[in-house]
Amino acid sequence: MRKPIIAGNWKMHKTGAEAKQLVEELKELIAGVEDVEIVVCPPFTALETVTELCRGTNLTVGAQNMHWEKEGAYTGEISGQMLKYLGCRYVIVGHSERRQYFGETNETVNKKVKAALSCGLYPIVCVGETLEQREAGITAEVCRKQVEEGLASLKDDQVSRVVVAYEPVWAIGTGRTASARDAEEVISYIRSVVAGMYGEKAAGEMRIQYGGSVKPDNIKELMEQPNIDGALVGGASLKAQSFAQIVRFE
Ligand code: PGA
Repeated sequence: MRKPIIAGNWKMHKTGAEAKQLVEELKELIAGVEDVEIVVCPPFTALETVTELCRGTNLTVGAQNMHWEKEGAYTGEISGQMLKYLGCRYVIVGHSERRQYFGETNETVNKKVKAALSCGLYPIVCVGETLEQREAGITAEVCRKQVEEGLASLKDDQVSRVVVAYEPVWAIGTGRTASARDAEEVISYIRSVVAGMYGEKAAGEMRIQYGGSVKPDNIKELMEQPNIDGALVGGASLKAQSFAQIVRFE
């Protein structure tokens, strides 16, 4: 059985003080939820505050990016080890905004995924097509390539620690969600791609989320789909009330 995972990607929002306030509100609203893994991904500058506030609660913490090297002369970068040391469990890798604005490729995604796994972090690997690609009818092909290259040459025992987030780029921050059926179709295809790479068992254990304008009013239908194991939530994770509603599938 795959435990659902709902993660909030705060992107470049919230100072330390604002993060503290959000987490304190959220903790009360989601107290007692045990059947869903709940993750918040603040910006680097709020990670320490947030990991301390979440210790001993049902909230876990992820970062939004990392470098693949352990340490070195990489000005402005943060390594997986540093995140692990802070108490992060997850790290988002290859978000479409990073692919679009910061030159990430399937190759850098693969390096980061391997580095995350080897220092004990769980990567949330984002894939998804642009509107242009969807309209050209190449959604499956684009997602297959992102999965095959992004998750290439992992060790068998690492595969089930990877979470994939299917996020159609045209649905991110636009208010346009993929229909639950469309999301399910692509996600079940992604699972079959993983099965082709690492076998049915590993693919059956891997959690695959949907992301892109997830809100309290569409989460229930998305979660009813057999292959959708949770959500990566942007805008709606910035308010405790809406994120808590999503976590409770209300
Ligand atoms: P959104 O963002 O929920 O605001 O569409 C999702 C994401 O980018 O992870």
